[in-house]
Amino acid sequence: MSTMPAASNLGALDAAHHLHPFSDMKKLNAAGTRIIERGEGCYIYDNHGKKYLDGFAGLWCVNIGYGRKEIADAVARQMNELPYYNTFFGTTTPPTALLAQKITSHAGPNINRVFFTGSGSEANDTWFRMARVYWAALGKPSKKMVIARRNGYHGSTVVGASMGGMKYMHEQGALPIEGIVHIGQPFWYGEGGELSPAEFGLKVARELAEKIDELGADNVAAFVAEPIQGAGGVIVPPETYWPEIARICKEKDILLVVDEVICGFGRTGHWFGHQHFGVQPDLAPIAKGLSSGYLPIGGVMVSDRVGDVLVNEVGDFNHGFTYSGHPVCAAAALENLRIIEDEKLVERVHDDVGPYLAEGLKSLEDHPLVGQTQSVGLMGAVQLVDDKASRKRFEDKEKVGVEVRNHCLANGLVLRATGDRMLYSPPLVITRAEIDQMIETTRKGLDHGWKAMK
Ligand code: PLP
Repeated sequence: MSTMPAASNLGALDAAHHLHPFSDMKKLNAAGTRIIERGEGCYIYDNHGKKYLDGFAGLWCVNIGYGRKEIADAVARQMNELPYYNTFFGTTTPPTALLAQKITSHAGPNINRVFFTGSGSEANDTWFRMARVYWAALGKPSKKMVIARRNGYHGSTVVGASMGGMKYMHEQGALPIEGIVHIGQPFWYGEGGELSPAEFGLKVARELAEKIDELGADNVAAFVAEPIQGAGGVIVPPETYWPEIARICKEKDILLVVDEVICGFGRTGHWFGHQHFGVQPDLAPIAKGLSSGYLPIGGVMVSDRVGDVLVNEVGDFNHGFTYSGHPVCAAAALENLRIIEDEKLVERVHDDVGPYLAEGLKSLEDHPLVGQTQSVGLMGAVQLVDDKASRKRFEDKEKVGVEVRNHCLANGLVLRATGDRMLYSPPLVITRAEIDQMIETTRKGLDHGWKAMK
């Protein structure tokens, strides 16, 4: 028999004892916590039995959908065999070794190694140290600074939040830490002014060259960016942006770090987001879709350029976590990658449901509240706007997003609003009919948002 208290008490228990991440606890306690009890496919169910289509795959992570028994079985098998052992001091476990090989098999010819962590934030902390250790080993210890982007997101640890460009995070805890600076973001709709998207893409990419020159290339270790900014609003950069960034990193001899925590494992219709843009990272943090969120695991994909130096020159990299390469998490991730491969989910996103979502989003562009839609694979955004012709955005960006989001939620669709952008990131197993449902519910949410704002 279950020892779990009745669901009716859980809200009160939660309010009394659970401090939530990224949540205004006073408001949350007044509104009440939503209790999610189970999931199946693309749907989650709350404690009142209400069914929601999860247009956000949990937190950009449940790529294979909910309720996959194969993962539960793989986890149970590994739990019974070996629930834990560390990967320090010259040991590994079978699923950990197999997983490292499997990840690199999808990453392109110059990436052959992985360092495991417990999360995406830890992955960003890990490469930050790795990059500095790499340059020091090459006799360039002054190459320490990291250039990141305004409105980027790289996690919540001190290093991750510092590399992220979220002002509201920097304001708490006196961030960013020393050695991390920011340049602009390729957000044409909001910041491109009179320039064409292509011109604007080049302009913001060239801010990187200017910043490197200002700091001195001898002081800069790396540039980090998400292929498509996720938490910042699913901002798909103009086509000119990434090739120019890659060119500048090469010319100025700094490492290119591509944060694949959201974009990795099929979300963009490629195994990794950098493959969509045709660039090759030196280091790439991963997490989320690696295990479809079934168990926590992250890592850093390490190119031969860095990996060979770490292995042959550095020797001891004095860094790691108790749960680096955790065997049960690795077993879950391995089974998850098997499912993605066997069900051809990456191809499915690229050839079928990705273009179908793009079409659906485009169909919303006739709505007076919609300024632009963008998507790559199953990662999309709807830009809400006050005046379409002038691209004038609402004074209260939060309000318009929350109005649309809450209406969708009340109608059984989970979406995220980042300010005045509605974000989409459904499980990769979503069907065309479910995409139709997402678009129809969004349109109702837009009608509601329009009335609320005008
Ligand atoms: N990097 C990116 C691009 C992310 O979107 C996130 C989380 O949303 C992270 C890093 C941090 O990952 P985690 O929350 O697993 O620490």
